[in-house]
Amino acid sequence: MTDDLILDVQGVKKSYDGLEVLKGIGFGLRKGETKVLIGPSGSGKSTLLRCINYLTRPDAGRIFLSGEEVREGNIDAMRARMGFVFQDFNLFSHLTVLDNVRICQIKVNGIDRETATQRAQQELARVGLGDKAMAYPAELSGGQQQRVSIARALAMDPDVLLFDEPTSALDPELTNEVIRVMQQLARDGMTMVVVTHEMSFARQAADELIFMENGHIVEQGPPGNLFSHVASERTRAFLNVIA
Ligand code: ADP
Ligand code: MG
Repeated sequence: MTDDLILDVQGVKKSYDGLEVLKGIGFGLRKGETKVLIGPSGSGKSTLLRCINYLTRPDAGRIFLSGEEVREGNIDAMRARMGFVFQDFNLFSHLTVLDNVRICQIKVNGIDRETATQRAQQELARVGLGDKAMAYPAELSGGQQQRVSIARALAMDPDVLLFDEPTSALDPELTNEVIRVMQQLARDGMTMVVVTHEMSFARQAADELIFMENGHIVEQGPPGNLFSHVASERTRAFLNVIA
C-alpha cells in the first residue's frame, strides 16, 4: 500500500445468498481528496461503503485506514475514525441537537463534556446551525437534520467521511443547503467518499468519479473526463439520464 493513502480499499468482495454484489473492488483515497461514487441502483454502492467501515463484513479484501488495517479486533476504534452520513440521518430523536453531536465524542472518544460541547457548537456553526443546539430533531427540516448528522460526524475528527446518498431523502429545495455544506467541506480539505446522484456536486467537488455497475468499478477518472469524451458509451448514457 502507498503511505499517503488515507483509505486503501483492496479487492473487496461481498455476496448475499450466493449473489455476488461486490466483485473485487479497490480504490485509494489521498488526504483531502473527494471521490464521488455513482452507478445504477443495486450496483453495490451502499454495500461498498458499509464494507469499508464493517457495518457489513466483507467476504474478502482488505481495508486500510491511514496505513492501519481494519479488522474484527479494532473495528470499534477504526469505525470511530470514519464518519458515516446516512440517507435517513440516523439522529437520536429523544436527544437535543447538541446531545446528538456531543454524545459520541464523550462515550466513544472519551472527550470531557466541556470540550465536547465546545466542539459540538463549533461544528454546528460550521454547518449553519449554531442557533439550533437546543432543538430536537423533529423540530428541524430534513435538510437541517442532515446537517446535524454531518456536524456529528465532523465532531469526531474523522480521518474520512463516508456519505451514502445524503440528499436523496430530501425535497429538492432542501438538497442545496446540504450540498453547499458538503462543497465547503471538500474545499476545506476533508477527505470524503460520496455516493450521490447530484451531478453538480460531482462536477464541482469531486477529484475523481468512480462509476460502479453490477459489483464492479467500470470506470474512474476526473469528472471532466467522465462527463466528456473519455467515458464509455454506457457511462455517458448513465450520466445523461441522471444529469
Ligand atoms: P446500491 O447502493 O448501489 O443501490 P446496494 O449495495 O444497496 O446497491 O445493493 C446491491 C445489491 O445487494 C442489490 O441487489 C441488493 O438487493 C443486495 N443487497 C444489499 N443489501 C443486502 C442485504 N442486507 N441482504 C441481501 N441482499 C442485499
Ligand atoms: Mg444505496
